[in-house]
Amino acid sequence: MATTKPAPAESETAIRVRALESILVEKGLIDPKAIDALVDTFEHKVGPRNGAKVVAKAWVDPAYKQRLLTDATAAIKELGYSGMQGEDMLVVENTDTVHNVIVCTLCSCYPWPTLGLPPVWYKSAPYRARAVNDPRGVLKEFGTILPDDVEVRVWDTTAELRYLVLPQRPAGTEKLDEDALAALVTRDSMIGVTVL
Ligand code: FE
Repeated sequence: MATTKPAPAESETAIRVRALESILVEKGLIDPKAIDALVDTFEHKVGPRNGAKVVAKAWVDPAYKQRLLTDATAAIKELGYSGMQGEDMLVVENTDTVHNVIVCTLCSCYPWPTLGLPPVWYKSAPYRARAVNDPRGVLKEFGTILPDDVEVRVWDTTAELRYLVLPQRPAGTEKLDEDALAALVTRDSMIGVTVL
């Protein structure tokens, strides 16, 4: 997206990882395409699919939704998702009047058990700064234009507390079952940069 320029300086770790990858590729030990596929899987498939199941269950089961909004860590664990970078979770619900967005202004804290690995833009300095200073501008770049009377709340994730957005259930989905609903839920809607 446009906010990711200029590119943030690479961290020491990123440089070392890149160096290691180059050596492994050069020696024919790994195929860079395989690594791309692996990263893609964790970014888009494995991780966010867990969060999508949490969201779909909250849409169809009011008692579960209540538990999710009062004790997210326990409610998410009910579905089998817990562990590192997800020990303390808070779920924030989008409504007709409130829209929630997640950021980590300090670094890249993110709820791994429910969303997998953070996307590159989430870790970028421009997103981290602008999500707080100009959330509507950031949302617009993701194609998300909210009515003026919708309050935008930005949640700053920390190592101690991680957030997951509960998006609004799309209209016209009354007949869909939980699995079909889960298939509609995107990673970006659970970060709060898009709506469904
Ligand atoms: Fe962080």
